[in-house]
Amino acid sequence: MSTVLSDIAAQPAPSSSVRAFIGKKPRLLINGEWVEARSGKTLAVFDPATGSEIARVAEAGVEDVDRAVAAARAAFESGPWPEMLPAAREALLWRLADLIEQHAAEFAEIESLDNGKTRFMASIVDVPGARNYFRYMAGWATKIEGTTMQTSIGGVPGAKFHTYVAREPVGVVAQIVPWNFPLAMAAWKLAPALAVGCTCILKPAEQTPLSALRLGELIREAGIPPGVVNILTGLGETTGAALVAHPGIDKIAFTGSTEVGKLISKSAADTVKRVSLELGGKSPVIVLPDADVNGVVGGAANAIFFNSGQVCTAGSRLYVHRTIFDRVVEGLSAAAGEIRLGPGLDQATQMGPLVSKEQQERVLGYIESGRKQGAAVLTGGEAPSHPGYFVKPTIMVNVRPEMRVVREEIFGPVLVAQRFDQLDEVVKAANDSPYGLGASIWTNNLSAAHRLIPRIKAGTVWVNCHNMVDPNMPFGGFKQSGVGREHGRVAIDMYTELKSVCMLV
Ligand code: ADP
Repeated sequence: MSTVLSDIAAQPAPSSSVRAFIGKKPRLLINGEWVEARSGKTLAVFDPATGSEIARVAEAGVEDVDRAVAAARAAFESGPWPEMLPAAREALLWRLADLIEQHAAEFAEIESLDNGKTRFMASIVDVPGARNYFRYMAGWATKIEGTTMQTSIGGVPGAKFHTYVAREPVGVVAQIVPWNFPLAMAAWKLAPALAVGCTCILKPAEQTPLSALRLGELIREAGIPPGVVNILTGLGETTGAALVAHPGIDKIAFTGSTEVGKLISKSAADTVKRVSLELGGKSPVIVLPDADVNGVVGGAANAIFFNSGQVCTAGSRLYVHRTIFDRVVEGLSAAAGEIRLGPGLDQATQMGPLVSKEQQERVLGYIESGRKQGAAVLTGGEAPSHPGYFVKPTIMVNVRPEMRVVREEIFGPVLVAQRFDQLDEVVKAANDSPYGLGASIWTNNLSAAHRLIPRIKAGTVWVNCHNMVDPNMPFGGFKQSGVGREHGRVAIDMYTELKSVCMLV
């Protein structure tokens, strides 16, 4: 039918193994067992490419949150996990990574069906990214260290002190993740916490719970002890909020919108939980006059259209020097017009739908607000006539700094393009945002790049590339884009407490 309505292909049928998995009874992973929600309530999961229900998952309530916290607490206080030899934890995390690798094709299919992204992208980005992340963080388990120090404590004649600082796992961690990279975000959260000996309660986004549940099956298969990882599917306002308020949790790690990040900060303050937040962005792409126009066109198109623009570091504000603005924007318009929309499991698809009806409406609402405020739509600007949640790749020009499309995070395939003349002007414009997650600079002038980098208020600055991440490269935001950094050594610091020990000898 859909081919009659538009040129978007029909979603091919999923494989029988994925059909069997998504047809399983709705359940939660608590203390190493698959259990139903106490209330028996369930939530529907939709295929964004068709808008039809494909699965149901359990909706965890307050009682389930209590059960999961009790299991994680017991596993932390008296279970084997924090006491295990670090090398044994490392080996279990590697085993989990190997299992992800063995099931890579299945994960790519699940991720595509659940989120809408293409199976191809999931198979080259999300799934290997998650696998590599567990491997990278597994290595940290054996590398935690402390320091000894000199002290000058006076007042005790003849006394000597042996003083050192040790690192200990922070405890029970609740990890709340979004829907744009469901498996990879789960890996970013679980891997460092598990490496240092924390126990976890993972809450995937209600729109995309499936890959976390499959990961839960592999966590059991790998032999990670009961209670070390608990997985609660459910809504943000209920399950998520109950986790954040729960007195039995030591730390909240959250990736999602700035709006929810603020709510979480406030709620977690009541029990002074440790909080790390990776929030929204409105990342500038700054193109200097000497840049290679063809390279910029390809790079800027990827920066905004990768994952249908549903990326917290998406290059959503384009600033091009006046001398090459028209060429860059014409090239981008042509590139955007050629992107083939379709369902994620169809091999010919280059860009999938957005994750949900709500997100599609939100993005279309932003485009409309831009039009009303006087912006011009060069390409796209609408949804194809199709029941899936598609939005055409969109480029807007004639925008002004105060417009909502320039100021707010759209989280969809919508680029706003602006001209600049002077470097000072573009620095001011790029930093004129409550966000500060990422930015990219496009130039072959090394000196100009080095002068610009320190002036841009962002947690990551890319030069002649965009959206590149690595487990060893700290990731996080300035300003309202977050608190703390993920990846690398700093992620280990985030999941540990320092203990100063001062011993009279
Ligand atoms: P988006 O707006 O892009 O859907 P959200 O920030 O709402 O992103 O969601 C990210 C994650 O936060 C999801 O797992 C969601 O269920 C969860 N969440 C949403 N609201 C709350 C809340 N009030 N408390 C805790 N978690 C929440």
